[in-house]
Amino acid sequence: MVLSPKQTTIAYRCPRCGAGIMSAVGFFSLSGDMLKLKCDCGESELIIQRSRDGKIRLTVPCILCPKPHQYTVSSNLFFGRELFTLACPYSDLDTCFIGETNHVKAALAKNELELLELLEEAGAESFDALNRPQTLTDPQIYDIILFVIRELEAEGEIHCRCAAGEGEYTVDVLDDCIRVSCTKCGAEARLPTDSLLSANAFLNADRLQLS
Ligand SMILES: [Zn+2]
Ligand SMILES: [Zn+2]
Ligand SMILES: [Zn+2]
Repeated sequence: MVLSPKQTTIAYRCPRCGAGIMSAVGFFSLSGDMLKLKCDCGESELIIQRSRDGKIRLTVPCILCPKPHQYTVSSNLFFGRELFTLACPYSDLDTCFIGETNHVKAALAKNELELLELLEEAGAESFDALNRPQTLTDPQIYDIILFVIRELEAEGEIHCRCAAGEGEYTVDVLDDCIRVSCTKCGAEARLPTDSLLSANAFLNADRLQLS
């Protein structure tokens, strides 16, 4: 019997309209037969079922395949990871993101960039939602960039002119960018926030150099 309240966040991308759909899932909301997560466009749904042996069965729409994919994961994996992704067996593209909300959000954003690259390579024009210059709203971009900055700072991967570990960093949200600066040496970096594409290089970086 599980006494501690467990919760996770799950997300997928709607194959029809390209939107990222995200929702919190509690352990107890899963004690019923099944839970459906639907896209606002009404054209896709992710199905979560808890089986008798305590495992979680997922039916996840895939953006590249005509039919959804089925996965079975243990409830420890489902509720216990910071981030756990499930990939399309035919393309390796991630279809489902499970874990802590901010990690899921960031993974969903990276997935969008991967898709944009795929579409670009294919010269495809068919995917309406992804061809719009900006599919995420501004607050989400800020959230994602701030999240990555916090991660880099926690890992000691922000560098300036000060000796390692000596810098003191502040983050300012400006109209057209987020500025990270060191209050000791004055070095700074400006991260564009007008679209995820322009933030791509930063989101995929494992260190941030201020100059
Ligand atoms: Zn949709
Ligand atoms: Zn697939
Ligand atoms: Zn410094």
